[in-house]
This record gives sequence, structure tokens and C-alpha cells, in this order.
Amino acid sequence: MSRRTERLEKTSEILARVGKEGRKYLLEPEAKTVVKEYGIPVTRFKVAQELDEAAEFAQEIGFPVVLKVISPSIIHKSDVGGVKLNLKTAHEVEVAYRAIHANVEKNQPKARILGILVQEMAPQSREVIVGALKDDQFGPSVMFGLGGIFVELLKDVAFRIAPVTTWEAQMMITEIRAYPVLTGYRSQPPLDTSAIADTIVNVSELVMEHQQIKELDLNPVMVYEEGVKTVDARIILE
Ligand code: ADP
Ligand code: MG
Repeated sequence: MSRRTERLEKTSEILARVGKEGRKYLLEPEAKTVVKEYGIPVTRFKVAQELDEAAEFAQEIGFPVVLKVISPSIIHKSDVGGVKLNLKTAHEVEVAYRAIHANVEKNQPKARILGILVQEMAPQSREVIVGALKDDQFGPSVMFGLGGIFVELLKDVAFRIAPVTTWEAQMMITEIRAYPVLTGYRSQPPLDTSAIADTIVNVSELVMEHQQIKELDLNPVMVYEEGVKTVDARIILE
């Protein structure tokens, strides 16, 4: 079986299962498994069901780690105190594990917690957003922008109708006003824009091959001098 057929089968299975369970949102580990199949780098992760497991998985993944709540009814995890960053020891992992459970219990008592996601802490860097949306008229389109205020406040984003080529993806990156931020601003080194372009192309392929995807958000993707890493992924089905 070719790699393409294999990834299509694997990801179709995940999306079909989510649909069958009557859910519209993929959980972060599900969304990351799907995008990873399309060649998009994601943080290493494991799903812990109990305290001891979380500490054990943190050892396996390597410190520092991040813990996040996994719940079908929590879309914005940090809003409910469901994300704990930069945990450096097994003890810090245990404290964070308990804190996430307590925060969710307090802020969204009805939410069902399916587990705690333990993942590699990606080094801080410039954050970008790669997304996709399905338009009733034009079908799937892809989006790119810089994280934080650039997208939220300044609406500094680029859109294209999918499928996009590598060349088109590169054009999307250069056309946002904040582009100079990526190319080495003041003493900052230039960041890996070709790895961003690859990510945009891979997202384009993913949404073209799965037309039941209504919305996809890699928010944020960390961009380095070499390579990128997706630290949060969200996929919404029609
Ligand atoms: P939310 O559901 O609130 O969007 P995120 O998973 O995006 O939750 O986490 C919130 C923020 O924490 C991210 O925008 C990012 O800055 C940081 N973050 C999350 N996961 C990681 C990680 N694995 N490594 C480094 N930073 C992370
Ligand atoms: Mg996020």
C-alpha cells in the first residue's frame, strides 16, 4: 500500500469514528495524529489516565513537559486553567495534574475529563497560525498569519482557495504585513519560512482529501531557524 493510501485510510478512520460518536470536534491528540500523518511536525505526546501515568509519561517524553486537559466540551483549554507549561520535574507534573482537575471542576464542572495530555514542551519562539476553512461557495481554503495580536487585532492574514502549491504558500507568507518579523528583524535570526510553506501545503492536501472538515486550526505553530512544530491543533467537522 502506498504511503498516500495508508495515510488516507488511517485518517479517514479517525474522522469516521469521531462522526459516529456524534462529535464535531476532534480532541487535541486526535487532531495531532491526523495532521502528523500529513507530514506536519507535532509535539510528542501521550494520554495519561491517572497521576502516576502522567509522571511516568513525562519521564519518557523528557522534561520539560506540558500538561493539558482532554475533554470533548472544552474548546479553549487555557481559558479554564486546563494548560500547564514548562513542568521540569515529576513533582511539578503531579502538582499540575491535580491543578488541572481542580481548575476544570471549578470553571466548567459539567465537563467530562477523558484524560490528561502529556507533551513535549516546545522551545519558545515566534508563533504562527495555519488554518483552513470550508466555504460553501469555494470549498476548502487555507489561511496563514502570525500568532497573537497580528491575527486577532490586526487581521493580518493571507487566504487562498485550496489546493495550494508550494509557490502559492510562499506567496501567502510574504504577503502578510508582518512578514519582516519572520525574516530577521533587528538582531533576530531569519526563521524557516520554507517549513511554514510545507505546513500550509500539507494542510491544503489534508482538507482537500477530507471534505468533511469544516475548520482546522494549528494555533500555534512554533517557527524556528530550522523547522516548525505544531503545539496545538483543532479540527471541526461539518
Ligand atoms: P488553547 O486550547 O487554550 O488554545 P493551547 O494548547 O494552544 O491551548 O495552549 C495555550 C498556549 O500555551 C499556546 O498558545 C502556546 O503558547 C503554549 N503551549 C501549548 N502547548 C505547548 C507546548 N507543547 N510547548 C510550548 N508551548 C505550548
Ligand atoms: Mg491554541
